[in-house]
Amino acid sequence: MTTLDKIVSLCKRRGFIFPGSEIYGGLGGTWDYGPLGVELKNNIKEAFWQSTVYGRNDVVGIDAAILMNPKVWEASGHVKAFVDPLVECKICHQRFKADQKEDLAGHEKSHQGKKTQWTPSRKFNLLVEAKLGVVEEAKQKVYLRGEITQGVHVNFKNVLDSTRLQIPFGIAQIGKAFRNEINPGNFTFRSREFEQMELQFYIKPEESQARKWYEYWKKERMNWYRTLGMTENKLRFRQHEENERAHYARDAWDIEYDSPFGWKEFEGIHNRGDWDLSQHQKSSGQDMQYFDQETGKHYLPWIIETSGGVDRAALFFLIDAYNEDKDPSTNSGQGRVVLKLNPKLAPVKVAVFPLLANKPELVKKARLVRELLTVNRELLPIAWDERGNIGKRYYSQDEIGTPYCVTIDFKTLEDDTVTIRDRDTTKQERVKIASLASQINSRLNRGPTANSG
Ligand code: ATP
Repeated sequence: MTTLDKIVSLCKRRGFIFPGSEIYGGLGGTWDYGPLGVELKNNIKEAFWQSTVYGRNDVVGIDAAILMNPKVWEASGHVKAFVDPLVECKICHQRFKADQKEDLAGHEKSHQGKKTQWTPSRKFNLLVEAKLGVVEEAKQKVYLRGEITQGVHVNFKNVLDSTRLQIPFGIAQIGKAFRNEINPGNFTFRSREFEQMELQFYIKPEESQARKWYEYWKKERMNWYRTLGMTENKLRFRQHEENERAHYARDAWDIEYDSPFGWKEFEGIHNRGDWDLSQHQKSSGQDMQYFDQETGKHYLPWIIETSGGVDRAALFFLIDAYNEDKDPSTNSGQGRVVLKLNPKLAPVKVAVFPLLANKPELVKKARLVRELLTVNRELLPIAWDERGNIGKRYYSQDEIGTPYCVTIDFKTLEDDTVTIRDRDTTKQERVKIASLASQINSRLNRGPTANSG
């Protein structure tokens, strides 16, 4: 069974994710991505950008500043309404989000025998504050952005004026957000610093348009996760109850994953109406309206938002890809851990091995093969391993999800062929070095590998 503990230990052992500031005892709710983690995250972000921006002609991207004028957060309602209900355990003073019933129940069990009493729920603002300025007394209080969304909306007019976009159109952004979460936990799932990948899609302010685009983006986003190999029956939509919705949302649906700690949200699709633009118009005094050339009318567009967490997606892709199976190529059916990640997401695309490290002619040839592959950007990064026996090297790559391993053996020296081993089937095939790069490339692009879940 895939437990969170197994994922956490794999991430630490192999360099996906480390606790933040670990040598100083850590900092609650912060995580550092290691050599493999940064590749996985970059691949997720690239796939998002590819499908949301490059793959269409009605969306552009921006990269707004993390630090913004505090008036932005007053106008957007975050200073007042970006709150979670907080309760405190009267026995041990640990604090929880009052609406996380499972966490509360779990905590109550930890005080077995004693009846847990909770303080009345009070509102707790999640914005993280910072101070900006060079003179101590005159430092200005600012907020680290609680969502990346506002950076897009305050630039609505700038983007409009500098492009030829017409409604409906979207602005995508990927970047860090910060929340003073009451109870960070479940590994990276609830962090205090995390990354979001979002699309703000501006439409005519009409119910029929909102319904149409809302359904469209729900479908698109769900398909995106499926196409990248997430197991279909582990994904579902859940609509927010009216009292659960964020202050800006007219409608909200989450995409949830069936994780080892329950069904959990990792992307939200929201109908924000004209909340953001009207608030910024009111607060800044700037005209945020769109001029519709066809009808000659000015209006504030409505916004359909898709807001995904890069870290939560990375975590769920890892959990979904994690398999413990028996190596089909060995008679003994040796057990192995294999990450059946979609090749597009796999941190390492190819590993190159000389069969034996103590045969200089094999090592020299293997180095040449690695160099040959290195010129193909889409095959990077390439791993190199010459330690121990070849079986262990294969398993070591399986564990991090490397789709293909190339081995240089004695036959290579005779006929310039190498073996390619497939992560999922463990089958090996001999191919000519001359066609190696194109062979691997076409296999990588063949789409998701079968995921047995
Ligand atoms: P939750 O209910 O779990 O606190 P949310 O509904 O507040 O999440 P949104 O404000 O809709 O989340 O943010 C959009 C996405 O940003 C979430 O679906 C999630 O993937 C990501 N996200 C939000 N908060 C965190 C967090 N503390 N750590 C990691 N990712 C987060």
